[in-house]
Amino acid sequence: TTAAKKTTARERVAAPEIRLSSPTKIIFPDRNITKRQVADFYKAVAPRLLKEVAGRPLSVIRCPDGVGKACFFQKHHTAGLDRVRFVRLKEEAGVNANYLVVDDVEGLMELVQFNSLEFHPWGAHADDPDRADRVVFDLDPGPGVPFAEVKRAAAHVRDLLEQLNLKSFLRATGGKGLHVVVPLNPANDWTLVKKFAKSFAEALAGSDPDRYLATATLKLRPGKIFVDYLRNGRGATAVASYSLRARPGAPVAVPLAWPELKDLKRGDAFDIDKTLARIKRQRKDPWAGIDALRQDLSAWG
Ligand code: ATP
Ligand code: MN
Ligand code: MN
Repeated sequence: TTAAKKTTARERVAAPEIRLSSPTKIIFPDRNITKRQVADFYKAVAPRLLKEVAGRPLSVIRCPDGVGKACFFQKHHTAGLDRVRFVRLKEEAGVNANYLVVDDVEGLMELVQFNSLEFHPWGAHADDPDRADRVVFDLDPGPGVPFAEVKRAAAHVRDLLEQLNLKSFLRATGGKGLHVVVPLNPANDWTLVKKFAKSFAEALAGSDPDRYLATATLKLRPGKIFVDYLRNGRGATAVASYSLRARPGAPVAVPLAWPELKDLKRGDAFDIDKTLARIKRQRKDPWAGIDALRQDLSAWG
């Protein structure tokens, strides 16, 4: 009967639950947002967030006492994580370490139970860690740069990539800036991807040095946008779309369609409620199909 079918569907959705400790603990004090609400948010966005993080080495920012108190960046697997896999990878110093890898909603929710607020994947997969399938141009406005200029920079990056036959995708970071993301399929060695990102950023900065900066040492300068290409390297991470940010207001990193750039007001325009309302009215994710794009760097260099 229909009733029997409905019950089955509901049971399938209510998969094994991760026990949530301290559900009433306040995580975002300025918004009175509890750990329960954070967990509910992550459960709701899990299908979309998992598309961005599953199977990739993953770092998390954990805030055991909430935002405003001590938070820490964690990339290694630790005791007590039973639903989270790890991959043994060589670190810069040459030693091996166990990197966190999440495959499913249970793993994700276990990290949330461990007070993870932010999720930062590699631009590579755990089973192929030396080849990057995502390039991230991280646009960081220095002091005094109006957001309209960051938007203009993102569109500029998009147009230059277009000239290389590369389709790109826009993300509001939940912070001050924007990310422009280029999927590569097939993935390429980090050495090549890194070289591409660096020379692209340097060419951009060279074409308009009053607006842009692309030097690894100078970073933020008043009035200029730092084109941070350093997100692209083995072991480097960038925040995932649908990750919360451990910043006031409970902002979320949100993937956008390019036509949405025009009306975007800030990099942290989307909080938990706005993000949930947005995905409820969306038929599909603005980045849908990103991994199926067959893009390579052959038009470059
Ligand atoms: P915004 O738009 O405000 O710049 P963002 O996510 O781009 O937001 P950045 O400071 O530009 O923030 O980039 C920091 C990136 O560096 C993060 O996305 C993260 O993946 C990475 N990262 C590496 N190590 C750390 C660390 N110890 N703490 C925080 N971030 C780290
Ligand atoms: Mn940034
Ligand atoms: Mn940056």
